[in-house]
Amino acid sequence: MGVDSFVNWLRDCATVLHENAAYLTELDSAIGDADHGANMDRGFQAIVALLDETSFETADDLFKKAGMTLVSKVGGASGPLYGTFFLRFGTALAGAEATPEAIGKALHAGVEGILARGKAEPGDKTMYDAWAPALEAYDGAVAGGADLGAALTAAAEAAAKGRDATIPLVARKGRASYLGERSAGHQDPGATSTTLIVESAARTLS
Ligand code: ADP
Ligand code: MG
Repeated sequence: MGVDSFVNWLRDCATVLHENAAYLTELDSAIGDADHGANMDRGFQAIVALLDETSFETADDLFKKAGMTLVSKVGGASGPLYGTFFLRFGTALAGAEATPEAIGKALHAGVEGILARGKAEPGDKTMYDAWAPALEAYDGAVAGGADLGAALTAAAEAAAKGRDATIPLVARKGRASYLGERSAGHQDPGATSTTLIVESAARTLS
C-alpha cells in the first residue's frame, strides 16, 4: 500500500465530513457551540486543496502537512486534536511498510497524541470514547490474524458502538462539560466524526 491509498483516505474523509457537516453541527448545537460540522468541513476542504496542489512522496510528509493544515485551519478543540492525530500517525509510519501491525502502531501513536493534548479519559464523552474501542477491536482482529481491511472494519464497528455509548454520558471534557448533567442524552459530535474517519479508513485502506 502506497501514499495513494492514504491520499484516497483523506479525500474520502473530506467527502464524508462534508456530507455530514450539518449533522455534526446539529449534534454540537445540543451540547456545544454548533460548529463541529463546519470545523471539520473547513479543515478537510483545506486538506483537499493541499492534495490538489501538492504530490506527496511519503506517508510521513503527507500526514505531517495534513495534520498541520487541521491545526491551523480549524478553530476549536477538534482541530488541534485531529491535527495531532494525523501528525503522529504519519510520524509513526515513517519508513515502515503499511502492514496491519504498522498501521496499528500508527493508530495508537495518533490516539496517544489526542490524549497528550486533550487529557481525556474513558467515559469523558469525547472522541476518545470512539477511538478507544476502535483500537481495542483493531488489535484483537490483528492478533487473530485479520488482514488490514478486516481489522479496520472491526475498528469501525467498535467506534460506532463507542459513539452510541456516549449518549447517556455526562461530559467531563471540552465545551459540553460546561453543561454538566444536561450533557447527558446527547451523542458526542467528536465521537461521531471519529467514527466517520475510521469507517472511511475501512473503505479506502483495505
Ligand atoms: P469546540 O468544542 O472547541 O467547539 P468542536 O466543536 O470542533 O470544538 O469539537 C468538539 C468535540 O471535540 C467534542 O465533541 C469532543 O469529542 C472533542 N473534544 C473536546 N475536548 C476534548 C478533549 N479534551 N479530548 C478529546 N476530545 C475532546
Ligand atoms: Mg463546537
